[in-house]
Amino acid sequence: MHLQLDQARNGPLRWHERLEAAAADSGRDGAIVLGCVDCEGSLVFVGPDFLLEATLHYRQRLHCDRCLTAYEQEVELPLAFVVTNRPDDVSATDDGAGARELEPEDLTTLGAVDGAVDLAVLVREQVELNLPMKPICDPACRGLCPQCGADRGREVCTCAGERFDPRWSGLEAIRERLGGV
Ligand SMILES: [Zn+2]
Ligand SMILES: [Zn+2]
Repeated sequence: MHLQLDQARNGPLRWHERLEAAAADSGRDGAIVLGCVDCEGSLVFVGPDFLLEATLHYRQRLHCDRCLTAYEQEVELPLAFVVTNRPDDVSATDDGAGARELEPEDLTTLGAVDGAVDLAVLVREQVELNLPMKPICDPACRGLCPQCGADRGREVCTCAGERFDPRWSGLEAIRERLGGV
């Protein structure tokens, strides 16, 4: 779906689309979007630019960084961009020349191509950017036992918990000599 900027000149352009997200399979550690990405948003003319706001809803499958298990997660991702239609203005760095009506520091500027924004491309990029660097299935995930590899969240492993690391034995001896502080 292409959002034509001209369609928003006389009033907000609103949409609610379900976008095919097959291409959002980034190949990064098997992370994948399940089903479609539900995208609801609006494009508002705030002269000379446009304000694009949207919320994405989708379900993604990730692999836990600690226990390596695949898990699924609902995602709600709010987006906001300033869309500019001036070709000379697309550069990421603004030299500060020329007063811009709308330029909140935290809004990213997006350049329109041929007066339009390709929503599918934008959504795909944002879904990828939103992938966590270290996905964790549960904050309480105990991960795999470093000794036997058992998933400590699911099975009681027979290894003796925090086993004494022989590399610290020298330090331990010194501590004892000091009187076991
Ligand atoms: Zn986990
Ligand atoms: Zn173990």
